[in-house]
Amino acid sequence: METVTPYKEIIDVIKASGGEAFKRCFQCGLCDAVCPWNRVRTFSMRKLVREATFGLTDIESEDIWLCTTCGRCPQQCPRDVKQIESGVALRRIATEYGVFPAPVKTIRTISAGLVGQGNPFGEDREKRAAWAEGLSVKPFTEGMEILYFPGCYLSYDPRLKKVARATANILNSAGVDFGILGPKENCCGESIRKAGDEELFKRLAKENIKTFIDNGVKKILVSSPHCYHTFKNEYPEFRVNFEVVHISQYLFELMNEGRLQLKKDYRKKVTYHDPCYLGRHNGIYDEPRGVLKKIPGLEFNEMVESRSDSLCCGGGGGRVWMETQKGERFSDLRIEQALGLGADVLATSCPYCITMLEDSRITMDAAEKIEVKDITEIIQELI
Ligand code: SF4
Ligand code: SF4
Repeated sequence: METVTPYKEIIDVIKASGGEAFKRCFQCGLCDAVCPWNRVRTFSMRKLVREATFGLTDIESEDIWLCTTCGRCPQQCPRDVKQIESGVALRRIATEYGVFPAPVKTIRTISAGLVGQGNPFGEDREKRAAWAEGLSVKPFTEGMEILYFPGCYLSYDPRLKKVARATANILNSAGVDFGILGPKENCCGESIRKAGDEELFKRLAKENIKTFIDNGVKKILVSSPHCYHTFKNEYPEFRVNFEVVHISQYLFELMNEGRLQLKKDYRKKVTYHDPCYLGRHNGIYDEPRGVLKKIPGLEFNEMVESRSDSLCCGGGGGRVWMETQKGERFSDLRIEQALGLGADVLATSCPYCITMLEDSRITMDAAEKIEVKDITEIIQELI
């Protein structure tokens, strides 16, 4: 195959992505010591950084697509190398040249779905609100208390539609005046940006921002930590600021204010998996735990790798759309940790985490041993 590695562009993009960030690396290897990939196969961010510094990156290699942007190595790096931003910059070059190794080829289909229908599945835009059929869910109108933005997975994925329905039931039970945008909602764009398609991210973000402004949206409730992260930290790049609340924070608030009343006990052993984009990237550790600990009868236990040390599920950075071989899935390790703790339920608060963990639970024949649940699904059973 003809080599298409564009050395000059790589050096230019790296410079633009974080100044001389890569050059600051002194090859200490701390990033490799904490990277979850090295629990399942060999992968070296240190090596990737070294090669990029000299413009020697092979953009045809699968390596530039492995990082899940979990946030563990930037926490440890003594030289502030900005591994995530610089790694994404390499993916942008590959995307520009249309170079996708076999396990990553799905990105083309995902991008086509996002361009055509505003969701990665290529599902009909007009059916975006179908998850709410039979429930009391209104279209958003200006002056409502909050916009509920379920995001793509909760709108279309059969497993995750249950989470959207649970959320709507809880909001109704607490008397929240909320609405949805339905077909006017687009993918937030977070993951396609991390997968290297900057132009598509900008397009999705601008369309969402226009819709929010046209509809008088001020406060947005999200179920996905990825929507949370991008609305809160990335949309301000377009000079807008919306108030953004994650469902775990909102549930905690509703319970504290006495608006959400639980009528039953939950006599199960529960542990909690911190999603990277809720925990490490945004510091939201206490509220989801606060919700679970308020449930009467629930026995809560922490896994060893929790809070800022949480083990990534493997789905961030667009990896949820890419092929990860059996035996190399971080979510398998997480299910083993939860089983080792004797948990009946592994709770979390992210559609990607649920997708990855459910997949592992089934392929590991653990479906009878443990349940994977969004915290809204637990609360719904108790109202
Ligand atoms: S932790 Fe930072 S300085 Fe150390 S090898 Fe990794 S990128 Fe380089
Ligand atoms: S951000 Fe996470 S997955 Fe990516 S290289 Fe660092 S530790 Fe590994």
